[in-house]
Amino acid sequence: EHAKRVETKSRIYDASMGEHLQQQQSKIERLAQAIRSDKLSLYYQPQFDIRTGELKGAEALCRWTDERWGAVSPVEFIALAEERGLIRELGDWVVRTATQQLREWLDAGFEFPGVLAINVSAQQLDSPYLVDYFIKSTQDIPSHHLGIEVTESVMMRSPERAMRLLQKLQDRGISIAIDDFGTGYSSLSYLSRFPVNTLKIDRSFVSKLPDDAHNTSLVSTILAMAKNLKLTAVAEGVETQAQADMLKELGCQYVQGFMYGKPLPADVFRQTWLKRKAS
Ligand code: C2E
Ligand code: MG
Ligand code: MG
Ligand code: MG
Repeated sequence: EHAKRVETKSRIYDASMGEHLQQQQSKIERLAQAIRSDKLSLYYQPQFDIRTGELKGAEALCRWTDERWGAVSPVEFIALAEERGLIRELGDWVVRTATQQLREWLDAGFEFPGVLAINVSAQQLDSPYLVDYFIKSTQDIPSHHLGIEVTESVMMRSPERAMRLLQKLQDRGISIAIDDFGTGYSSLSYLSRFPVNTLKIDRSFVSKLPDDAHNTSLVSTILAMAKNLKLTAVAEGVETQAQADMLKELGCQYVQGFMYGKPLPADVFRQTWLKRKAS
């Protein structure tokens, strides 16, 4: 009796697991296809100087809309790509596409102020591959226009290796941002030794401004730390004027968020935000 029940349970379990796995399998196959047939896209979200309102750079964000699954969140498909061995191909696509786009804008006579940053997951720094590919692919672009964003988890995963790889980028003038700063467990000693140029204050802190006093002290502390370590601070996910006012008061330099500008397809981004170089 008991054995039977267990057996039934495990069969039910297997059936639903099987369905889930099948779905994942279909998704990963379609994702692989999308990468190979250039059906992913990059959106670009602007960043601004909080005081002058000037454009100071942009972040490239990957998008995938599948005929069957609709718009899949990058959080989901990046994780899937990592689990299923597709992250290298996806990462290459992102580097290639962002680089070509920037090249195209510059060649067409547009001014690109600051850095175009691409996101790199911790797993992409497990081998030297991504960093080498990035350096190779961006050779004809002035490095002051180039940046990457990594989360604090790279410092946990394999600090020494990550440090070496990031150093290689920074030595070439490519800027390094710590993304979602404050949500991980980076130690201060790593932070001061890591080759870092920018701290991006996570949206979860920004969204609690300005009323939560404890949260405000946290943001204020991060900003003071950035200043002391001579790092640029960017607040991400700014949605309201009240948040912006508080960030300005606390001395934040750069902002990014829906209030200032949403991520946009390349052509719309160009039309909305880029100016032609004065000749
Ligand atoms: P992230 O790098 O922290 O990117 C910021 C996310 O916040 C983006 O979500 C952006 O659309 C969203 N965002 C920006 N401003 C606001 C705002 O004012 N309010 C709200 N609610 N959200 C805002 P998205 O595009 O869905 O990307 C999610 C995450 O997926 C990214 O977080 C990044 O970790 C990852 N990701 C995206 N593209 C890539 C990529 O090309 N490669 C890798 N490795 N990861 C990527
Ligand atoms: Mg990012
Ligand atoms: Mg972020
Ligand atoms: Mg984030």
